[in-house]
Amino acid sequence: MARVTVTRMNEDLPLLGEPSAIELANTWYGEGAHDFLADPEVARRWATCVLGEGLEIDVADLRALRGAVRRLIASQMSGSAFDPAATALVNAHAAHACAHLSLVIEGASASSRVGYRGGAAARLATSCIEVLTGPDPIRRCEGPGCTMFFVQDHGRRRFCHDGCSHRARQRRYSRSRR
Ligand SMILES: [Zn+2]
Repeated sequence: MARVTVTRMNEDLPLLGEPSAIELANTWYGEGAHDFLADPEVARRWATCVLGEGLEIDVADLRALRGAVRRLIASQMSGSAFDPAATALVNAHAAHACAHLSLVIEGASASSRVGYRGGAAARLATSCIEVLTGPDPIRRCEGPGCTMFFVQDHGRRRFCHDGCSHRARQRRYSRSRR
C-alpha cells in the first residue's frame, strides 16, 4: 500500500498514508468539527498531497463524494444495508477512472508505469470501491477523542497513528496514578 509522506508544509492536513478514500473520509474530522475541504485552497492542496499533481480537482465533487464514502464506510462497519444513492455516486465517479501504461525510457532501459486519467473524484471513488471490497476491515481509531478511520492491515492495530497510541497510554498511566 502506498504511504503518503507528510511533508512539513502539510502538517496541518490529517494525512495518515491510508488509501485515498480513507483519507477523504478523514477530512471530515471530529464529525465536522474540522472540515478540511471547507476552504477550496486547502482542499486542492489536500487532493494534490494525496493523489499527486496534475489531476483535475472539483472541490464540490470531492465534498459530495466524501459524504457518500462516509455513509458506505458506516454501513460496512455497522453491518447495515448500503445506501443505494451513495453507491450510485461512487460508481458514477469511478466510471471516469481509466488506468493506462506508459513506457518509461532511461537510456537503453525501458520500464512501464501505470498512469491514470480521470479527475481526483474518479481516483477517490476507485479507492473507495477497493477499500470496501478489500480483505482488511475499516476501523475507527481508539485514541482519546480521535475520530480517524484506518484500514486494519494487521490484526492488532487499534490506532490511526503512533501519536494516538501514545496519548492512550499516557491517559491509562495518569488514571492509574490518581
Ligand atoms: Zn487516532
